[in-house]
Amino acid sequence: MPQTVFDSAHVDPALIAASLGASVPRPFWLDGLDIPRWPAFAGSSAFDLVVVGGGYTGLWTALLAKQRDPDSRVAILEARTIGWAASGRNGGFCEASLTHGEVNGETRWPREMEQLTRLGLENLDEIEATVAENGWDCDFERTGTLSVATEEYQVAELRAAGDAHTEVFLEADAVRAHLNSPTFRAGLWSTRDTAVLHPGRLAASLARACAEAGVEIFERSVVRSLDGGSDDTDVSVTTTAGTAVAKRVALATNAFPSLLARYRLHTVPVYDYVLMTEPLTPEQLASIGWGNRQGVADLANQFHYYRLSADNRILWGGYDAVYRYGGRIRPEYDDHPPSFEKLARHFFTTFPQLAGVRFSHRWGGVIDTSTRFTAFFGRARRGRVSYAAGFTGLGVAATRFAANVMLDHLGGLTTERTELEMVKSVPPPFPPEPAAYLGVQATRWALDRADHNEGRRNLLLRSLDALGLGFDS
Ligand SMILES: Cc1cc2nc3c(=O)[nH]c(=O)nc-3n(C[C@H](O)[C@H](O)[C@H](O)COP(=O)(O)OP(=O)(O)OC[C@H]3O[C@@H](n4cnc5c(N)ncnc54)[C@H](O)[C@@H]3O)c2cc1C
Repeated sequence: MPQTVFDSAHVDPALIAASLGASVPRPFWLDGLDIPRWPAFAGSSAFDLVVVGGGYTGLWTALLAKQRDPDSRVAILEARTIGWAASGRNGGFCEASLTHGEVNGETRWPREMEQLTRLGLENLDEIEATVAENGWDCDFERTGTLSVATEEYQVAELRAAGDAHTEVFLEADAVRAHLNSPTFRAGLWSTRDTAVLHPGRLAASLARACAEAGVEIFERSVVRSLDGGSDDTDVSVTTTAGTAVAKRVALATNAFPSLLARYRLHTVPVYDYVLMTEPLTPEQLASIGWGNRQGVADLANQFHYYRLSADNRILWGGYDAVYRYGGRIRPEYDDHPPSFEKLARHFFTTFPQLAGVRFSHRWGGVIDTSTRFTAFFGRARRGRVSYAAGFTGLGVAATRFAANVMLDHLGGLTTERTELEMVKSVPPPFPPEPAAYLGVQATRWALDRADHNEGRRNLLLRSLDALGLGFDS
């Protein structure tokens, strides 16, 4: 099989071992986070809206619900602690795209794509305005993204994508002047579509804003079931220690099992892994440049994403996407040495001038992959229950859009959002086990082959493409 730049470079195994040796297995973004703790839900109370899940989707839903109707009684029921899951451990790329990238959107909703692009940009602009107006301390930087070609066949793809207004195509020398890696053959700088931020502080800011708006937040409150709501009754939301009776319920449980049985197979939890370096010294930073501090991603099917933190660490993640049989989610899966070693090797391949830099943190998290790589919206119990999931690794900004869709649905409103084909359509589910596991492994193998074969997709991938199905991180 032909080699990619990441296979052919030699990186000393001792350098990799030393770089990872002192790293701690927990998300950097949750270290020392200034966030209050809230009580567990107990007993029985009535609410206008109960939101299940305290990540970005749940927090935005609760906050925007209070903005729409300040007198409503709104609660969040979170199984563990606010922001502990994907929302507190992601890469912090806050991207305008609602469709998991332009190509995916163009393929699925060609007639709607212009509108989806506009709505995505408006959503990102509104997030930026909210952060600024409220003085949220979440290191929001509207840096744009740099997509980089590390193989010759990827250059044409970037050249074709560049448009004069918001995307600038960069030849090898020009891209290396932005960020200096010997692996870069070309780049595309999209100036407007992305911000980078501190994910944990965004969750903390949202939670504080919710509490200030009067949202009642409950942590360590696992919702076990939903009952009622199919006739004229309210919905009973049962936790381990009580029952919340709700006129409306928004389910924001992401990669965790859906409380609506009919959507259990619509997502699979896929583990994504991340490394964070120590802060770079001024000399180390000067050796790579990065004056515009863009978020960066390379172009293969198995891609890396990387960015600077406010204190000039490099977050380096992606590439492996690991699915465990039965869709299992377990704390021990957060640590996965083979993925971290591979990530470290690829890091030093990309930045050989940073040999000697250490990683301070390593972690993993689950992504809610859907067969169309973008969120879908479900409804149940005569419109009293709304559900959004399937962000497939691109939810930092899209969760706010999803929150608005859920509130439109719960309010019985017809809006520009609810009329979108993207919102009305629900993707096909994954098959049950063992077919899910076998299918995901076969697709991963095929994607790896394509990355080693100038992007050429084999029969399996072409068939999945034709069916509009897929697997991604
Ligand atoms: C490693 C990693 C890197 C990523 N990088 C990026 C990135 O750079 N940019 C980007 O856009 N996206 C990224 N993502 C995806 C992004 O983080 C998610 O799409 C987003 O955070 C989803 O938010 P959420 O609120 O839907 O889910 P979560 O943050 O997972 O929150 C769901 C919450 O629901 C709770 N819950 C579940 N079931 C129950 C129940 N029965 N009762 C009570 N509570 C329940 C959980 O405890 C959890 O707190 C990444 C994800 C990971 C894991």
